[in-house]
Amino acid sequence: MSKILIIEDENAIAELEKDYLELSDFEVEIETDGEIGLEKALKNDYDLFILDLMLPGVDGFEICKQIRENKNTPVIIVSAKKDDIDKIRGLGLGADDYMTKPFSPSELVARVKAHLSRYERLVASNSVVKNDIIEIRGLKIDKTARRVYVDGEEKILTTKEFDLLTFLAQNPNHVYTKEELFREIWDMNSIGDIATVTVHIKKIREKIEFDTSNPQYIETIWGVGYRFKI
Ligand code: CA
Repeated sequence: MSKILIIEDENAIAELEKDYLELSDFEVEIETDGEIGLEKALKNDYDLFILDLMLPGVDGFEICKQIRENKNTPVIIVSAKKDDIDKIRGLGLGADDYMTKPFSPSELVARVKAHLSRYERLVASNSVVKNDIIEIRGLKIDKTARRVYVDGEEKILTTKEFDLLTFLAQNPNHVYTKEELFREIWDMNSIGDIATVTVHIKKIREKIEFDTSNPQYIETIWGVGYRFKI
């Protein structure tokens, strides 16, 4: 459920906004003091802010500026004075939207929804860019989060299983001997030998293959080693 903070000193307006937003299943908090509102906005996690400009304590101009310096959360400014909205635009404080009072509450709700979905898409696309992901035929290796999924279902791999699978998947179609894989994944001081590689390949296959006797991902090249199929 999306959480919204309304910073507004006119109770009647704040309550009206809250009622309409709650009807649309949003979780809403009201803060009437600018200073406390700013503190809450910076300290807690909200999905969107609705901000009045003329407030006791710290005004909405300063709150907007400080939110923007710290967060990408959408900010909708609601002000009685059109001049103030022109001013905040002119100052380039980075608010996402502006409404003048009196406004239609359902229009506010519509805008809140639009900004939230735009923001969610933005966050989602950023995380795809940020995470380093290898995807091959239903197998997804998220190198950043060190997680593995097969057809969307997460598979829990140990550290070495993950490293071995990732190394092979990053170098598809290349045949590696067990010795090469052992040297690559285990450090010089590791206890173990090439049989360790065999054991780990078996475990990985049990986790990611539909049929371990007919592996789709890691292929055994008899007498040589292993190769990741592309
Ligand atoms: Ca006010």
